[in-house]
Amino acid sequence: MDKLIIANWKMNPKTSKEAGELFLAIKEGIKSIKELEIVICPPFLWLKEFAKEAHSIKIGGQNCHWEAGGAFTGEISAQMLSAAGADYVILGHSERRHFLGETDDIINSKIKAALKAKLRPILCVGENKGEEMHIVLETQLMGALKDLSINQIKNLVIAYEPVWAVFSDEASSPDSALSANLFIKKILTKLYSRFLADRTPVVYGGSVNAKNAVDYILKSQMQGLLVGGASLESAEFSKIIQNVSKA
Ligand code: PEP
Repeated sequence: MDKLIIANWKMNPKTSKEAGELFLAIKEGIKSIKELEIVICPPFLWLKEFAKEAHSIKIGGQNCHWEAGGAFTGEISAQMLSAAGADYVILGHSERRHFLGETDDIINSKIKAALKAKLRPILCVGENKGEEMHIVLETQLMGALKDLSINQIKNLVIAYEPVWAVFSDEASSPDSALSANLFIKKILTKLYSRFLADRTPVVYGGSVNAKNAVDYILKSQMQGLLVGGASLESAEFSKIIQNVSKA
């Protein structure tokens, strides 16, 4: 499978004009890249418009609700994302787990909803400072994948994002990211099979930039990257993509 580079714009940029310009600049910067799958996850507001203009770029949501519809003020369903042109959805991001109280049970329901809507879930897992990486990863994976069959999760993407490295200047060392990657594969093998573990992309996220991006691909054996802050600077993001495409 192609390497995956996913941009999480979070609640940025501030205006539609800036968002449109950023999207166009990224498109321009990566137009010669064929061998990578690029996914941009903008705020919901711009998703439909971008999906129409995306060409080879894929579009993703940053969250979805577990129900298909109903009295859930401020929420958006997986079906709505899919109908708007999204192919992916980020679920279980640490900012939602920690600031909005998302539990593994909630994330499990959201993954089920996303799969039903034919979206590809990007499940974020990772330990906080002072937590034991293995315990956190095993707990989060078992909780998020509860009652999901091997057949259902064949399109899953897992993003290893140590919480302390997200939106900070402190990226994980490629060695620790490698051990997290191998441990995630071990848990997937235990829960499902070696075959499924080998074909499930694990990507790294947490203070990725154009300088460190390739290390996570080569040294940590990651299948791709989830990029927050650096995806808001078109030149830096395009450089990350170009560097990974040459790696
Ligand atoms: C993220 O938001 O998932 C992320 C990895 O952010 P940053 O690249 O800014 O650390």
